[in-house]
Amino acid sequence: MPTRTFATRPCWVEIDTQAVEGNFRQLAQIASPHAELLAIVKADAYGHALALCAPSVVRAGAQWLGVTSVEEGALARTVCPSVRILAIAGVFPGQATAVLEHHLTPVVWDESHFVELENAARTVKAAPQSIPVHLELDTGMSRQGVSVANLPGILAHFNTASALRLEGIMTHLYAADEADGRITHEQLTQLDSALALIQSAGHTAQWLNVGNSAALLGGQAPAIGAIAARFGMKALMRPGLALYGLRPQVEGVDAIGKSLPTPPLQPVLSWKTRVVSLRTLKPGDSVGYNATFVASEPMRVALIAVGYADGLTRSLGNRFSLLVHGRRAPLIGRISMDQAVIDVTDIPDVQSGDEVVLIGNQGSERITAFDHAVATGTIPWEIFTRINARVPRVAV
Ligand SMILES: *Cc1c(COP(=O)(O)O)cnc(C)c1O
Repeated sequence: MPTRTFATRPCWVEIDTQAVEGNFRQLAQIASPHAELLAIVKADAYGHALALCAPSVVRAGAQWLGVTSVEEGALARTVCPSVRILAIAGVFPGQATAVLEHHLTPVVWDESHFVELENAARTVKAAPQSIPVHLELDTGMSRQGVSVANLPGILAHFNTASALRLEGIMTHLYAADEADGRITHEQLTQLDSALALIQSAGHTAQWLNVGNSAALLGGQAPAIGAIAARFGMKALMRPGLALYGLRPQVEGVDAIGKSLPTPPLQPVLSWKTRVVSLRTLKPGDSVGYNATFVASEPMRVALIAVGYADGLTRSLGNRFSLLVHGRRAPLIGRISMDQAVIDVTDIPDVQSGDEVVLIGNQGSERITAFDHAVATGTIPWEIFTRINARVPRVAV
């Protein structure tokens, strides 16, 4: 790795765009021939930088991207001019014009979405059936999606005169990472009967849009593909985390059936900083706010340019270690907003400017987003997305 020079302080994220491409190809192979993939790049590609990751998955063959919002969709459109972009969290008042302008495909389920889109379509005199939308069904998560009870009323919006075309039916599997698969089975059964209802009301859709990373890696592609085929549809699955090289797990234990193929997914993100300065401590010297660490013997400690404002969880002070010279260096004392201190007593020759790894490999050691998640009682999705926007993302 060449030494980088920075206009900012040395705290940065490296994105391995080749790894993103490779991961997409691996996942597409697992989905094939049952389903195609929609690459989830919401929340700035899980903190991995949409501007780097969206073009990478497109190079690997992705024809669909999934973003949270219309705003993110507009951004994705600037870097990926010719793919389909699904805005998965609905359309807010005032946003339909941007949906049309950037050729986004909104997920809809609420009357307000139809009002917003139909008004904009009238204003631009959009042709009948010219605006594809994906209708989300609530199959038990009680988050987004129309309930089966309200489905007939919502379906009435789709008629031959309408500018809106029912292109996809979507639902979200909310427990695909649970090993017994009971909830997923119930959701797919509900989905199946909702599709029968939609069909009997005279509606057809091209895509059945179902399943996250856990569903894909948990072997649900054939089941979802079979449901789609029964209704003359094509299946579209929506992996997110797996694109970034991590397999969904529960409490650090792999919840996906052991007999399934484990694709060689590559972690995409490394998070690094550098040693700012060094000092020696004598017994009794304290470190950081409130003296939560007191040296009991002579020590050598390093100040590093990362703090909780960058996304390093404050509660990791005195409870986690980072990598320097390929070895573990414990975080000591409280983590400050912009700085932290590590113990390098047992690591010879640490100098200011030396690289420190928060997430990623160094020598034969590795720290993963899962390690951070386990240590802080959360999930890697949150670890990634709370690396602050001020931390520059650079492609490697
Ligand atoms: C975030 C999200 C996904 C991707 O989930 P992963 O677990 O990261 O694969 C898929 N579908 C929807 C609706 C989502 O919100």
